[in-house]
Amino acid sequence: MTDQPAVTVDGHAIPLLGFGTWNLVPDDARRMVREALRIGYRHIDTAWIYENEAAVGQGLQDAIDEGLVARDEVWLTTKIWVKHFQHDALLRQARESADALGTTPDLLLLHWPKAEPSFEETLAALNAARTQGLTRTIGLSNFPAQEWSRAQSLSEATLVTNQVEYHPYLKLTRLLETARELGSSVTAWSPLAQGKVADDPTLTEIGRAHGKTAAQVTLRWLIQQGVIAIPRSSKKSRAAESFDIFDFALSDEEMDRIHALARPDGRLGDWIDPAFQWDQEW
Ligand code: NDP
Repeated sequence: MTDQPAVTVDGHAIPLLGFGTWNLVPDDARRMVREALRIGYRHIDTAWIYENEAAVGQGLQDAIDEGLVARDEVWLTTKIWVKHFQHDALLRQARESADALGTTPDLLLLHWPKAEPSFEETLAALNAARTQGLTRTIGLSNFPAQEWSRAQSLSEATLVTNQVEYHPYLKLTRLLETARELGSSVTAWSPLAQGKVADDPTLTEIGRAHGKTAAQVTLRWLIQQGVIAIPRSSKKSRAAESFDIFDFALSDEEMDRIHALARPDGRLGDWIDPAFQWDQEW
């Protein structure tokens, strides 16, 4: 699919660096997706709830029309919103998302775990979306370790990733272990801690030694763990900065210094259904 660093799950190569589109209004989403593909990104992340799937699809088509990429060189992810977890509703949204994108996504995620309807019903519907050709692969987002394992036990196809918040201010030991046990992967959302890493003195200092910024150090730290990262920017220069991370490496000591920045109150997006709990890391 691509010669970029990738993690291979169940025979599918997922580029380790992707481009996020949350909070990008349609005009910006179209412009920035095309720009990201021009810069070299080969992985784009969107969701039904972002209300920009059509624009993301147009940005991809613009890049294809300009000869910047071929469709099969790009990994495209979207997500099923939590209100669509019943069997028929899930399939309806999967069709709607594919239509809006103008192409079959490579990966379709359940956006957040929900207690109702049952995991049995929702996982069966997600698998049906795959067998009906509405997505190439399926996966999860925001599932704690126990729920991830349970969902996998109910899924015929491998759940190829669990997309969760992860950046230097969070610990993720249990989920990274679970990914290894299940032969799956972790994708880090808000990998730049929503921009907060840029002013971090430790990350800035480590970056100085490599001629890199704090954001670049952070993304390198993620992909060096084999974690997929999907930073978002509305600016061409920052999208280019975030892509420029393949020409240096962090030492074990630098990796450890960044792990040591984790803190119990580091979570930014605490929107989990009260029926579930994040994994206890402290
Ligand atoms: P990020 O951690 O990617 O941070 C984005 C913010 O950082 C923006 O304000 C951006 O500002 C700024 N920024 C971008 N690049 C740089 C840089 N090089 N240096 C300094 N600041 C920078 O946050 P997101 O929350 O957007 O997460 C990334 C993606 O993850 C989302 O877009 C979405 O695709 C996905 N996501 C998934 C969730 C889920 O539940 N599955 C939840 C949240 C996000 P500016 O635009 O001005 O450059």
